[in-house]
Amino acid sequence: MRATDAVIDCHFHIIGNGSSGSGCWVRVTRPYHKLLARIMLRFFNLPPSALAGNLDELYLNRLVQMVRESSVSRVVGLAHELPRDRQGNPIDGFGSFYVPNDYVLSCARRHPEILAGVSIHPARPDALEELERCIQGGAAVLKLLPNCQNIDCSEPRFRPFWERLAAAGIPLLAHTGGELSVPVYNPEYADPRTLRLPLECGVNVIAAHAGSRSLFFDPDYVDALIQLAHDHPNIYVDNSALCTPTRAACIRRTLESPLRERVVFGSDLPIPPSCHAPLLRGLISKTQWRECRAISNPLERDLQLKRAIGYPAESFNRITNLIPQAALNVSTATPTC
Ligand SMILES: [Zn+2]
Repeated sequence: MRATDAVIDCHFHIIGNGSSGSGCWVRVTRPYHKLLARIMLRFFNLPPSALAGNLDELYLNRLVQMVRESSVSRVVGLAHELPRDRQGNPIDGFGSFYVPNDYVLSCARRHPEILAGVSIHPARPDALEELERCIQGGAAVLKLLPNCQNIDCSEPRFRPFWERLAAAGIPLLAHTGGELSVPVYNPEYADPRTLRLPLECGVNVIAAHAGSRSLFFDPDYVDALIQLAHDHPNIYVDNSALCTPTRAACIRRTLESPLRERVVFGSDLPIPPSCHAPLLRGLISKTQWRECRAISNPLERDLQLKRAIGYPAESFNRITNLIPQAALNVSTATPTC
């Protein structure tokens, strides 16, 4: 049976450095990314030394603890594919982190708090085989960042890939809008209109960040998403990272347009949610701001901010209806919350 009232976060990044043999890596070379990494670690109560230490274990333990100590039942823990060229070969030296599918699939098997969000570039020569393997392994979501991983989702040659994804009942969680925390390879693929082919193939597509800006001069794609919502019943948006200064500008339009009934709750942790951004936009009261600021658990804080903003109750477990039943039952561990 589906737990209809269980809150599920559809967008929680898994990060690691391979210290447990996970195959993950992190490469922070640009000064801005170094600073961001330090902020994220501090936000997670992890020491800066974790980056070169046993990050895999520390991060995973913290994630699980955070879920257990919050009102969120489960999170979709996301793999992170490599940026690839048109032939599907990795682009050397580009990209700031990598999280393999096997790692998130094993995390989901070991921890009932985690659902597996896998990541497969559809140009990979083995894309369909890898997708099949992930379906059998209990994947809940396919996560892609088309602008960072260099994916034109509407290339006709990807049709069989999207058709298989649709048949498996797995949604595509696709980054839309600007991006600051991961290097961008092709900014044009931030446009949600590039998601038309998977939509036409019947894939439930969740436009992460609702096409919002990451910087003030980025293009804004919220209106494009509102148009897509008129054309396609299977397009959704997540509200991950919307409690940040620039992205918060789109919140009202997601609440006052047809997108309101398509919102899926997502945090985008470890990106820190800001209590100030919704306050300054007049989306929460001073009292709500104080209450949210007092919450030390970042996941709980993000949830309570989204509740205070007024996202509909259904948005907090909408993902349950968009992922395969098999993915919800994949864990072999005893549920703890
Ligand atoms: Zn994200």
